Amino acid sequence: MENFDVDVVIVGAGFAGAVTARKLAETGKKVLVFEQRNHIGGNAYDFINDNSILIHLYGPHIFHTNDQKVYNFLSRFTDWREYKHQVVASIKGEKMSIPFNFDVLEKVFESDSDLLKEKLLEVFKNRKKVFINELLEFDDPDINKIATYIYENYYFYYSTKQWGEHFSSLDNSIFKRVPIYLSKKNYYFEDNWQLIPAAGYTKLFENILDHDLINVKLKTDGLDFISLKSGKVYLKGELFSGPVIYTGSLDKLFNYEYGKLKYRTLDFKFENYNKNHFQNYGVVNYTLDQDYTRITEYKYLTGQKLKNKTTIVKEYPRELEKETDIPYYPIPTKESRELYFKYQEKLINYHNFFCLGRLAEYQYYNMDQVVAKALNLSNKLKD
Ligand SMILES: Cc1cc2nc3c(=O)[nH]c(=O)nc-3n(C[C@H](O)[C@H](O)[C@H](O)COP(=O)(O)OP(=O)(O)OC[C@H]3O[C@@H](n4cnc5c(N)ncnc54)[C@H](O)[C@@H]3O)c2cc1C
Repeated sequence: MENFDVDVVIVGAGFAGAVTARKLAETGKKVLVFEQRNHIGGNAYDFINDNSILIHLYGPHIFHTNDQKVYNFLSRFTDWREYKHQVVASIKGEKMSIPFNFDVLEKVFESDSDLLKEKLLEVFKNRKKVFINELLEFDDPDINKIATYIYENYYFYYSTKQWGEHFSSLDNSIFKRVPIYLSKKNYYFEDNWQLIPAAGYTKLFENILDHDLINVKLKTDGLDFISLKSGKVYLKGELFSGPVIYTGSLDKLFNYEYGKLKYRTLDFKFENYNKNHFQNYGVVNYTLDQDYTRITEYKYLTGQKLKNKTTIVKEYPRELEKETDIPYYPIPTKESRELYFKYQEKLINYHNFFCLGRLAEYQYYNMDQVVAKALNLSNKLKD
């Protein structure tokens, strides 16, 4: 193989890997990126399918952020399409806004709704949103009535399906991702910027990685070339003292020595239709029935205007079984965090080895969070 005369080695060409590669290349460093898949972009990868629809192969990705630095950095490589994401839950044949809001409260509690709204606004003064665990824990019959409805219709079945764990064993951070609005706000995200790259995510990644000092090796497992021993990192058997940025999973790095980290995977079932639209929203969540969690219709996200053609995807969550299953979501329980920390401790003496991103840090991060972390790490490594 080619050229190992490089300053930085990166494992993974998702947001974590691509952004650090670009930032470090711009400081004059020669960067080698290993990517095991046959494409760049990590889980944000998109392409035009046989039905001429731009699809996100690993599930719908909507970029949203309040972080000016992240927005500025990515805007160097893409134009944007504005997209305010709306999600509904299919509940007993009706479509109800997600997050739960005062529109849903009025529909469900009809003549009691004014009283219940007042109560919520009084109890949670000056708050724009609350979380399901706060409602469930609050000692008041009216609040409990609302909490029970939301818990049963929005969270319980959906989170069991998504995580394969009982609601009570999951970390609170999960429920903070989907709040309850104390208003009629009906958009899913609250960030200043809610966008989709105008020419798609893959094009954005091509532009980020298009630099003379970046060399990307696709279909290459970085762990076939990198090894760790007694605080030292080796690249193809030779001592390597430059930074190595690893964005893969830690259990695989250590050959599953302490066992496998728990992740959920997803089976994506794509369906093409010869009609303008399949549904009235970008995403419909199935919170009370079906084995899939949600149906996404890509045309809403990407803004494609094709007539009589559309593609949807249904997402079926399940446990990781085979070596080839893709680990998407770290399962946020106490035990899995503990196992992760055990692996992390093994890296304590490796001062030029950096873990970054959703796999290596065993965290559910949004894209903007990963970009922010990648920009920070590159700043630290630039000298
Ligand atoms: C279904 C789904 C929907 C999502 N929707 C959104 C959304 O709407 N908005 C949002 O902000 N975020 C969303 N996310 C999160 C988003 O995907 C992540 O924030 C982002 O992908 C993290 O980037 P990353 O580089 O850390 O990881 P990844 O994108 O997973 O990239 C890691 C890369 O490393 C490669 N790799 C791993 N190990 C090795 C190895 N040993 N050798 C070589 N290569 C290796 C992998 O193949 C992969 O390409 C979603 C995630 C999922 C699963």
